[in-house]
Parts: sequence; structure tokens; C-alpha cells
Amino acid sequence: MVSGVLATAECALRVANCGLRMGRHILLLGPPGSGKGTQADLLCKALGIPHISTGVMLRDHVARGTDLGQRAKAIMDAGDLVSDEIVVGMVRERLAEPDAACGYLLDGFPRTLAQAEALDAVVGTDALDAIVVLEVAESELVARALARGRSDDTAETVANRFAVYRGQTEPLIEFYRTTGREVVAVDGVGAVTEVLSRIVTVLAS
Ligand code: AMP
Repeated sequence: MVSGVLATAECALRVANCGLRMGRHILLLGPPGSGKGTQADLLCKALGIPHISTGVMLRDHVARGTDLGQRAKAIMDAGDLVSDEIVVGMVRERLAEPDAACGYLLDGFPRTLAQAEALDAVVGTDALDAIVVLEVAESELVARALARGRSDDTAETVANRFAVYRGQTEPLIEFYRTTGREVVAVDGVGAVTEVLSRIVTVLAS
């Protein structure tokens, strides 16, 4: 009860602050292993916005053994993409929650053109304040991914995730540019705090 009231008050404060803060609807793009998740966590804490990661949401379904999780597990283990319909539905519901009223950071979504178009349909084509791509050389990415030790981080899966990224997700950069949205590239190599400050500089500019 008390926490419900606090959540409502907190949300009201966020709504009140909406017009005062800029750059709080953020899309973070980047290849697998580029550090998106780490940077997203830090940015979200700093900005007080929810971190919306379809990978985290899907892994949560797998861990809870839901129907969706059971269907998604083999696809994720192979480094393939879960269907657009499933992830779009998850994100649509998540964006409708009160804590996303004044901002959010999308991490790992959209990953396909169909997902990007679905996101436009849900939030509008001018909703995103910043689209940031973390850039890291492929050789560095392979080493990082294999060092991470997640169950879907075998050499084959890592290679497949790259192929999927190049084929399906990288074209989103062009999609956003050709539809009049600015996409800013940030060098993702360096200490976590260095990369974070590069992103913050972009968001503040
Ligand atoms: P991530 O944590 O973003 O690397 O996602 C881990 C895995 O979840 C991916 O390799 C995909 O199998 C699946 N996944 C996450 N986000 C999406 C998405 N937007 N579309 C399709 N599959 C996704």
C-alpha cells in the first residue's frame, strides 16, 4: 500500500519534470558485446528512467519457465531472433507502464526493421530524443562476448549473433537516418566511465 502510494507520487513527480528534462527517450544500438547493457544500467540510474531490455525480459521468462520463455530459449541459445510479434508485444506493454511516462532507454530493441516500424507506430516517429550507436571493432567484440560466459555465449552463437546483427539490426541505422532521425555514433572502446561520459556528452548536446 505504502509502496503503491510512493510509486504514484514518484510517477507524478516524473510527469511534472517531463518538460524540464531533455533527452530522456533514448535508443541505444550496437553490436552484441558492445557494452550496451552496462552503459544502459548506468544511464538509467543517472537519469531516473527505466531500462527496457528485451534480452533481460526474455531471460526472465526463460528463468521463470513461462510458455513464452520455453518457446524463446532454443532461439536465444542459437543466437537467432525471437519473433517480432513476441518482442513487440512485450515492449508495447512495458512502455504503457507508468514509470515509462517521461522517458526510457531501449536496449536490444528494435532489432529488425519490422520492430522499428512497430515502435514508430506505438510511440510516434518523433518520440526518440536520442539514437546512439556504440561502436566497437569486431575482433574486440568476439573476445568480450566469449569472456562474458553467458549460457548463450558459445563461439557458434556469438558468430551467429554477429551475422544477425549485421544483417538485420545494423540496417536500422540507415532506416533512422533516411526517415530524418539523427543517429550518433559513440566510440565504445575504453573504460566504462569513459564511454559513459561520451554518451552523456551526446545526450546533453
Ligand atoms: P540481448 O540480451 O539483447 O543480447 O538478447 C539476448 C537474446 O534475446 C538475443 O540473442 C535474441 O535471441 C533475444 N532477443 C533480445 N531482444 C530481441 C529482439 N528485440 N528481437 C528478437 N530477439 C531478441
